Amino acid sequence: MKKDFREINESYTLPQAIREAQRCLHCKVPSCKKGCPISNDIPEWIAELAKGNFGNAMQIINRRSNLPAVCGRVCAHEKQCEGHCVLEKKGTHINIGKLERFVADFDSDAGLTHEAIPEKTRGRVAVIGSGPAGLTIAGDLSRKGFGVEIFEMEPEPGGVLMYGIPEYRLPKEVVRREIKKIEHLGVIFHLNNTIGEKHTIDELFEQGFDAIFMGTGTGVPKRLNIPGVNHPAVRQAIRFLRRVSLYESGCMSRDEVIVGNDDIVFVIGCGNTALDAARTAIRMGSKEVTVVYHRDISHMKALRSEYDEAVNEGVKFLWNTSITNIQALDPTHLRSVTLNTDGIETVVPADHVVMAVGSAPAARIVSTTEGIEVDEKGYVLTRENPYGMTTRKGVFAGGDVTNRPATVVHAMRDAKQVAEGIERYVDAVKLMESINTDK
Ligand code: SF4
Repeated sequence: MKKDFREINESYTLPQAIREAQRCLHCKVPSCKKGCPISNDIPEWIAELAKGNFGNAMQIINRRSNLPAVCGRVCAHEKQCEGHCVLEKKGTHINIGKLERFVADFDSDAGLTHEAIPEKTRGRVAVIGSGPAGLTIAGDLSRKGFGVEIFEMEPEPGGVLMYGIPEYRLPKEVVRREIKKIEHLGVIFHLNNTIGEKHTIDELFEQGFDAIFMGTGTGVPKRLNIPGVNHPAVRQAIRFLRRVSLYESGCMSRDEVIVGNDDIVFVIGCGNTALDAARTAIRMGSKEVTVVYHRDISHMKALRSEYDEAVNEGVKFLWNTSITNIQALDPTHLRSVTLNTDGIETVVPADHVVMAVGSAPAARIVSTTEGIEVDEKGYVLTRENPYGMTTRKGVFAGGDVTNRPATVVHAMRDAKQVAEGIERYVDAVKLMESINTDK
């Protein structure tokens, strides 16, 4: 059956959600919570859900997460909360992700919870980038009384949530809804605004911001050194996914996406981005999509569930295999690629190669700002105290740009700690200012 971009996993109905919540044992020492990177109070909100108290369940989730409808969909539940649930030993873990998604969706649809917007009296914070780390910082600090403004280079906020994760796993409307909630907390968004080009960090300080957070992620894809790799039909996965997102939102024409339409596509790499690219290529109409990975399946970085779904959709996998040469037909088309499996080389037809072998931070901000040190790979160096502060006073960083997190929820956990670091730093600066004024 032809695949489209509609969301794959179905939501619970209300009776199904309550029945599932009622299976929870409310363990005294809840191992599910230990498995959650942001220590979500899982048994507490499941207990409220089991009684039909949806608003209470939402309020408990909001204590730890700014993006529950996102986490409920894209978190690696099998490795985190659900993998740690005591019932998992019997193979009957509580479907925590699906329940979280239900609570968040139900709350938005019914308009149940309305958070009071706190007065912004504690200082001003600029957040650069609106991916999971930036949104978490903005939500946490806004709830604590800081005036937060987000600067985003793209026409819509969300970063990787909007432009990196395909619609069938995370619908754009869900991301927009979560961002609306953060906007309701009083966060101001400046879109199409690239810091490092349009404005600099120094200008933001001149505008009166007390602290600045860099959550700019890793936007520069890595390349392998293969002959033919610079051909235009060799694409970077993150750029391909971004183009498809723009096409799906009506901001780009089908021609500009390029991959698809009966093509034979090879994807290099086997992380979640590689599988997202492969499954997206299928949806764009590719005839044949093959993931090429230089190690075996046990070393695959993608989630097993993602792999299973990719196989079901027709994606093929070549293990212990590398592409060693890319041959052009003409300046715009490929003819073939050379595959090497255990030393044996074969040349097979190919129309596109999509590369998903990781990415590194852009140097845009660091190169236009004095005093922000990076490591040899370009990741921003930060301190433990106050947590997340770079070598430039008042400038903080978190998320992928610091090379700490690996997933959406890990970026959120890191950002929560950085938010506390910013809070402590700004409070201390304000205290010193008031002492000096009183003298
Ligand atoms: Fe419920 Fe499982 Fe958590 Fe126990 S470990 S509280 S059964 S979700």
